[in-house]
Amino acid sequence: MATTRFVGLFALTIFLCLAAGELLRPSMAADAGGLPRDLFSLGIASRICTDRNSTARASTDFGHMFEATPEAVLLPATPADIADLILFSASSPAPFPVAALGKGHSGRGQTLVPGGVVVDMRALGRGGGAPRINVSAAGAGADAAAAPYVDAGGEQLWADVLRAALEHGLAPRVCTDYLHLTVGGTLSNAGIGGQAFRHGPQIANVHELDVITGTGEMVTCSRAKNSELFFAVLGGLGQFGKMEALLRQLSFEPGFVFAKDVTYVQFLERVCEEERVLRSAGVWDVPHPWLNLFIPRSRILDFDAGVFKCIFRDANPAGRILMYPMNKDRWDDRMTTATPNDDVFYNVALLWSALSANDVEQLHRDNKAVIAFCEKAGIGYKQYLPHHTSQDGWLQHFGVKWSKIIELKAKYDPKAILSPGQRMFLSSLANAATRAVA
Ligand SMILES: Cc1cc2nc3c(=O)[nH]c(=O)nc-3n(C[C@H](O)[C@H](O)[C@H](O)COP(=O)(O)OP(=O)(O)OC[C@H]3O[C@@H](n4cnc5c(N)ncnc54)[C@H](O)[C@@H]3O)c2cc1C
Repeated sequence: MATTRFVGLFALTIFLCLAAGELLRPSMAADAGGLPRDLFSLGIASRICTDRNSTARASTDFGHMFEATPEAVLLPATPADIADLILFSASSPAPFPVAALGKGHSGRGQTLVPGGVVVDMRALGRGGGAPRINVSAAGAGADAAAAPYVDAGGEQLWADVLRAALEHGLAPRVCTDYLHLTVGGTLSNAGIGGQAFRHGPQIANVHELDVITGTGEMVTCSRAKNSELFFAVLGGLGQFGKMEALLRQLSFEPGFVFAKDVTYVQFLERVCEEERVLRSAGVWDVPHPWLNLFIPRSRILDFDAGVFKCIFRDANPAGRILMYPMNKDRWDDRMTTATPNDDVFYNVALLWSALSANDVEQLHRDNKAVIAFCEKAGIGYKQYLPHHTSQDGWLQHFGVKWSKIIELKAKYDPKAILSPGQRMFLSSLANAATRAVA
């Protein structure tokens, strides 16, 4: 079910969006204070950029609602460069924050790191060397009869993973609706698309990961090996480690062949085609006050009555609404992502585009009204691509998982340096722990 409306306000858009941006860039004020000088005597120094062009490129995201400039951007040539940076920060008397930047398609400043260092993961794939997508059509080692797999770097785009797999007549079990996202970026959330009801989210289809933790340690993990870290980082919002060369044995199955209308690839690239159209109309790089919710099946009619038939009854905002059902038994609750309790829940994605300053404010009000309705009606929803501005919000979001998350954070990122843009551990870990048990 989808509606699209891009009204004829394009000429006004640029000016009004700038105005909106000023109003809505509140909270990530740069608090730099400079990085330790010793950082620039490490072997990675030549790959640390502090020039304005580099830091400006890493200072906003797809949502265009938050902005914060990092002190520097690391262009890693190898995963070991990332480990060196994190180890340096974690052992420093004044640790600085570090965040991975995939394709920057977050909506609410999740990759931003004022006063710290952004790791531009995409640099890993640029430096030549061995290919970082390798497809094994025959299955692995002793498991040769098992499903084929791909070994892909966390910085790789799903579009490229798909292309490489198709050369072997294979395709990922679960593709996101939009393929120009990185493997690490979607696995930090869950990675959902039209096939997730059958195969689960992308995180449920990963067999092995290489992770660099917040102490700079490189760890290979799977369901059988270092499983605690494996489950933590999948859906872990970048809190426990950086997934680098990380994806191994991703389950694949024979690709579909579409005989009519469009090819399989054209179908999977449908949102990229929309992107081209929207870009040419100048309405791609606008604020996107998106709200993604998981709604339990038992309350979807209440949600429909309260949200679509009431809050949005007379509204017709620009954008797209996606809804599709998901089977909870295809998810693995040991992973960090939070889902509702029902056996079946719906992903309801309100993918708004704000074409004017008024739109931005109105859509924020509408989104707040949706959340307020869900709270008041006790809908038992969860946010997907969650955004919370307080630890109480995160506590409520994760529920019984929260105390485990604090424990994992203390173990794998004890200085709380990773991905501060998620705003999960802005105050101290000790403070978070106190709240969790209160
Ligand atoms: C147009 C569009 C369409 C989308 N469609 C879908 C969809 O169909 N299904 C879906 O599930 N989601 C979808 N999303 C949401 C998307 O999955 C998330 O926003 C995702 O985080 C974006 O990936 P990215 O590569 O841009 O990550 P970024 O925005 O660059 O990073 C996101 C988070 O992940 C962390 N991170 C990034 N790389 C790594 C890594 N290698 N290791 C550890 N942490 C890392 C970052 O620090 C940050 O916290 C869509 C978003 C957009 C803008």
